[in-house]
Amino acid sequence: MRILLADDDPVDRAILTRWLERWGYQVTAASDGEEALAMLAADPSIRICVVDWVMPKIDGVEVCRHIRRQHQEPYVYTILLTGKTQKEDVVRGIEAGADDYIIKPCNPLELEVRLRAGRRVIDLQQDLILSREALRQKAMRDPLTGLLNRAALFEHLEKELTRAQRTGGSLCAVMIDVDFFKHINDEHGHLTGDSVLRDLAGRLESVLRTYDAVGRFGGEEFLMILANCDSAYGQAVAERLRGHLAAQRVRVDGRELAVTASFGVAATENRRHFDAETLIRAADAALYRAKAAGRDRVCVARSADWLAPPPSSRVAPHA
Ligand SMILES: [Mg+2]
Repeated sequence: MRILLADDDPVDRAILTRWLERWGYQVTAASDGEEALAMLAADPSIRICVVDWVMPKIDGVEVCRHIRRQHQEPYVYTILLTGKTQKEDVVRGIEAGADDYIIKPCNPLELEVRLRAGRRVIDLQQDLILSREALRQKAMRDPLTGLLNRAALFEHLEKELTRAQRTGGSLCAVMIDVDFFKHINDEHGHLTGDSVLRDLAGRLESVLRTYDAVGRFGGEEFLMILANCDSAYGQAVAERLRGHLAAQRVRVDGRELAVTASFGVAATENRRHFDAETLIRAADAALYRAKAAGRDRVCVARSADWLAPPPSSRVAPHA
C-alpha cells in the first residue's frame, strides 16, 4: 500500500520514510502541503496520508480539508502529526477531516498501530464499494438471460440519445420478438421456453460491438441499442441475426427446436426531434408490421411508424 508522507523537516521525513518502508509501505514523500496535494492528485493509488501540521505554503490541516473535499471515494485515510503545542487544537484538525493524529516526536510502535487501524478502514470501505457495485450490477440484469433489464435499457438509451443529439450521430433501436413463443411454452413447457430465451440472448450478445447494448425488454421481447448507426446498418444486423436463428436450430435437452424471431428497426437518422419513447415506439411499430406480414422477418420503421400510437393500444398482441 502506498503512503503519502508530507513533512517539511528533512530529518523527520527521512526517519519516517525508513520506518514506513520497513513496515512494507511504499512511500511518496513531500516537503510541503502544496507538493503533497499535487502528488496525491497525480497518484490515485495513494490511500493513506501522514501529514505534518506545520508546513510552509499549505499546512497539514488545510491538506486534510482539501482531501475531504476531493476524495469521497476511494477513501483517503489521513493521520495528522502535531507538536505538543498544538495538542489543544487537535479538535480543529479532526474537524478539518483528519482521521487520527499523533503527537511528535512520533513513537514508531504507535504509528505502526495507527496505520494498521487506517488500513482496516480502507479495506472495509473497499469491500463496501465492491459489494455495492455487485448489487448495482445485479439490479441492472435480467436474472433469466443475464442481459440488461428494462430499467437499465432505458438508462442506457437516454444516455445514448443525449450523445447522439450532441454529436449529430444516429442511434438505432432494434426490437426483437420470438415468434409463436406461447406455442413453445405450451408445447414444450416453460423451462424449455426459458432455454430458448437464454439461447437467443447469447446470440444477440455475440453480434454486439462494445458500445452497443442489448436487454430483455419484457417477456420474449428484446431490445438492441446500436450506437452511431443508421437504419440500413441496423437492418443488416437484424437480418444476420434472423438468418442465423432460422438456420441454426435451438438445442434444448438434446432436442432441436425451430425458433424464429421478428425484428423492428428504427434509427434517429435525420430526425431532429426524438426521445426514447418515440424511438422505441417506431421500432415496435415496425416489429408489429413484421409480425403482421408473416413473422421471421425484419421491417424498418417508416415515417408513419414514428407517429404510431402507444403499444398498449395495439389491436392484436404479439404471438
Ligand atoms: Mg513541520
